[in-house]
Amino acid sequence: MKRNLYIIAGIVMSIMCGCKGAVNPFDECLYTPEATTFHVWSAQADSVQVLLMEGGEVVCKDMKKGRGDVWTAVFKGDHNGANYVFRTHTDGAWNETSAGVFAKAVSLNGDMGVVMDLRTTDPEGWDADVSPAFTTPVVYELHHRDFSIDPSSGAAHPGKFLALTEPWSLSFLQDLGVTHVQILPSFDYGSIDESTLERNVYNWGYDPKNYNVPEGSYSSDPADPACRIREFKQMVMALHGAGLRVVMDVVYNHTYQTMGCALGRVNPGYFYRTGDDGELANGSGCGNETASEREMVRRFIVESVKYWHDEYHVDGFRFDLMGIHDIETMNAVRAALPADVLVYGEGWAAMAPAYPAELLAMKANMAQIPGVGAFSDDLRDVLVGSPFNSLPAFAAGAAVNVEPLKFGLAGGVEHPQVNGMVFWAAEPSQHVSYVTCHDNYCLRDRLTLSCPKATEAELLRMDKLAQTAVLTSQGMPFIFAGEELFRTKGGDENSFESPDSVNAIRWDNLRTYRNLFNYYKALIAIRKAHPAFWLGNAGAVRELVSFPEAPDGCVAYFIDGDDPVMVLFNGTAESQTFDIPEGDYNMLACDGEASPVGLGNISGPQCRVKPLSATILSRI
Ligand code: CA
Repeated sequence: MKRNLYIIAGIVMSIMCGCKGAVNPFDECLYTPEATTFHVWSAQADSVQVLLMEGGEVVCKDMKKGRGDVWTAVFKGDHNGANYVFRTHTDGAWNETSAGVFAKAVSLNGDMGVVMDLRTTDPEGWDADVSPAFTTPVVYELHHRDFSIDPSSGAAHPGKFLALTEPWSLSFLQDLGVTHVQILPSFDYGSIDESTLERNVYNWGYDPKNYNVPEGSYSSDPADPACRIREFKQMVMALHGAGLRVVMDVVYNHTYQTMGCALGRVNPGYFYRTGDDGELANGSGCGNETASEREMVRRFIVESVKYWHDEYHVDGFRFDLMGIHDIETMNAVRAALPADVLVYGEGWAAMAPAYPAELLAMKANMAQIPGVGAFSDDLRDVLVGSPFNSLPAFAAGAAVNVEPLKFGLAGGVEHPQVNGMVFWAAEPSQHVSYVTCHDNYCLRDRLTLSCPKATEAELLRMDKLAQTAVLTSQGMPFIFAGEELFRTKGGDENSFESPDSVNAIRWDNLRTYRNLFNYYKALIAIRKAHPAFWLGNAGAVRELVSFPEAPDGCVAYFIDGDDPVMVLFNGTAESQTFDIPEGDYNMLACDGEASPVGLGNISGPQCRVKPLSATILSRI
């Protein structure tokens, strides 16, 4: 019954919003020097108040209900910097106050909204900020604190947004050659007390509080509402200036609290799914799941990504537990953003969502969401093993079914030489190729777990073999920051609140494991130099990619065309001989070394490949 009411409310809203001059219900606080106008959408409330706090005084105003359940109040005069909260009256009682669902500036810990002239938050040169040209993407996922908190980083702003404006970090990323930096949750989240940062607490940040404001603990001064906004923009501008695009990790699938957060307080019940028993559904495993299929939740998500793109110049979005969202919402997100803005996510949920599986943005349904990608657990699992066991896989020399490796190399699209797989990607760009991310073990730890007796030299071979597949795949390669430095988290597979001693990247490793860094760097350069590795559409993949005969435990991957290239993967503990077409080749990678210029020439019709290594050949 309630659900029907929500649907009707949504339809009414859609009609309203098509009207000329209709209020955007998520423009909650509109500042001008002459007046500040508050709007808040609440279909449930019978009264709504806004409380404006300025100079030690609190002024409470009743808001007027207008069309589409949008409540409005206007305060004349210049109120820049004033705090505000909304209070809704539902079911005979006043709910706790909140900053509203779409605050664009907040006080310490995000408890109150702040009236903000956003133009005063623009760093110098912001008007001229443009995203670098979109090139064959290589995504690098980092956590602000992991990246720059260790003293070995030499960061002037350790653990902060501003660390990504410093020459050491920008030149490192440029040197590695990645194109997109994906930042772990950087919207305002709830698990870190911004007033006690000296305690040095750590969290990944998958606990959203205010979706449309940067997180305070990554700013120099979380008590200054403009600071986090300005410094986030400085970070984006610096990354853009260094030729890097910025992807945000977004977590619309659940909130940190339910009735304790604005979504619950402003519109009790509306934003969350419930099960048949009327209790909150929990597909996120975090206590609730949002109901993206409801018109105003969908619109909220769409407005939010548009806002981050328009106001903060963000170039991409990685959707956490995307499988909780419905297909229609993900299509609406895609349609709201320019084509060169990346949209991808986890095509699964933590537990079964309270919504029909065939309507959700699950991996199995990706063909219905063109232009949106999903992480390939198929490729991950065949290369390094499943997170649900400790068994070794292809890169560790285990005798495994190699079809998922071929599947991943072909970008997850239907291919006549790949057998026994569900081809969930309609286009290869939808297939996010990776072996590790912030979740689960990092690569070194996963390999160590599955091969406890392996020497460090053997682990390094396995590491390189796995990432060679990722970085030569037709899918979109994704690497977790620090893998190129052989990072370890000491076997901590769920380090979401572990200390810096577990999570921090040790920059001394850049010297110790320089050879590994150089290998990653060379793979990225090889990928960029040979468009064959990013054919970009399924038809071309089917036409040009083939998998010639290879020894057992091995895969040969050939890409024909103007610039034929071949990758020979040896997942066994012995050297193997591959048959290759007659001709002369430049060897771009061999036995754990790689170079975009080449390591030397060889001629067919055979190529010997060392144990647990990959050879990349470019036809001369
Ligand atoms: Ca926060």
